[in-house]
Amino acid sequence: MISDKMRPLVENNSVIRAMFEEGARRKALYGEENVYDFSLGNPNVPAPPAVKQAILDILEEMDPVTVHGYMSNAGFPGTRKAVADSLNRRFGTHFRMENIIMTVGAASGLNVALKTLLNPGDEVLTFAPYFVEYGNYVRNYDGVLVVVPPNTETFQPNLEAFEKLVSPKTRAVIINTPHNPTGVIYSEEILKALADILEQKQREYGAPIFLISDEPYRELAYGDAVAPYVTKYYANTIVGYSFSKSLSMPGERIGYLVIPDELEDAENVIQAAVIATRVACGVNAPSLMQLVIERCIDEKCDVKYYERNRDALYGSLTALGFECVKPQGAFYLWMKSPVPDEKAFVAKAAEYNILFVPGSSFACPGYVRLAYCVSFETILRSLPAFSKLADDYFA
Ligand code: PLP
Repeated sequence: MISDKMRPLVENNSVIRAMFEEGARRKALYGEENVYDFSLGNPNVPAPPAVKQAILDILEEMDPVTVHGYMSNAGFPGTRKAVADSLNRRFGTHFRMENIIMTVGAASGLNVALKTLLNPGDEVLTFAPYFVEYGNYVRNYDGVLVVVPPNTETFQPNLEAFEKLVSPKTRAVIINTPHNPTGVIYSEEILKALADILEQKQREYGAPIFLISDEPYRELAYGDAVAPYVTKYYANTIVGYSFSKSLSMPGERIGYLVIPDELEDAENVIQAAVIATRVACGVNAPSLMQLVIERCIDEKCDVKYYERNRDALYGSLTALGFECVKPQGAFYLWMKSPVPDEKAFVAKAAEYNILFVPGSSFACPGYVRLAYCVSFETILRSLPAFSKLADDYFA
């Protein structure tokens, strides 16, 4: 007998499981190398060698009671200081150790932020398409997720629609840049315009509206593209970061929140967020991984690897006639379905052993997402299958 709150999650999970099982069935039938699985955002680039070295050195050099023990729920002071110093060096910010709370990845960081801020019935706005877990995270605290329809020209936030949906009930806004599933990086111009709207609405309603910037893909930006640092544009910003993708270690569950001093009632919010970490989000972030982060703070995975994949997949698919958004960051390609029912397109692609995810899973039907965190060889091997798929629609 499960709770009413859990029932829809269990039902929805069976859809995801069915997709996963279909992939496994095809791999067993046709051989792993003949199935082109672009469905999962699991990094395939190894963690930088410095991560392994740091683990070995820590275990060799440090007192095991410290390495494996509890610490302050906010994290080791040395790790928090290393994070603050690195951000200040890179983005010209002025964070102190106290502004950083270590978290169990971005998932936990978002939960800490929402538990800290939401009262039942509060609204949280986000922009379609979006990472579906946001809905579950918001519902964890009896909030209501309000989805802003997409700007399908650019896939930057649709600010015209946004402005109309902000209400006195709006407590927070979640953005994600670089973006899953579109690969878009929010421009400085858009962030400034978003901040202007929020400032004006805060004044109008006489209450703070918090901007939560979800940034697990911050380091995955290609060429000259840079993701502007959001706290510079809007004081009431909380940043949720993760090392899952930047250091290729999603299973290790490590990230952090930044709660700047400029945020309204910052001292209380920080204190509440530390308690939220303790009571609902893992007590503290994994101790060994915090120590690794302190030593590897400016390391990152081989971003060029993903950039080569992006170039190959985007170049080949657009040449075949598919309409795609050119990813500036993250490792996802957002493609327009050649038919309005993108689930039918996903099913047709599966006939050629090409697996990807329908846009309706991101509240944006009519599109599909391809995760290109796969081997370069998988991309090359998939191209004849994509060519047959294109013939079905464009020949
Ligand atoms: N936010 C977005 C947009 C993601 O794509 C993911 C994971 O794929 C997460 C948050 C959760 O990341 P983490 O592994 O750090 O919990």
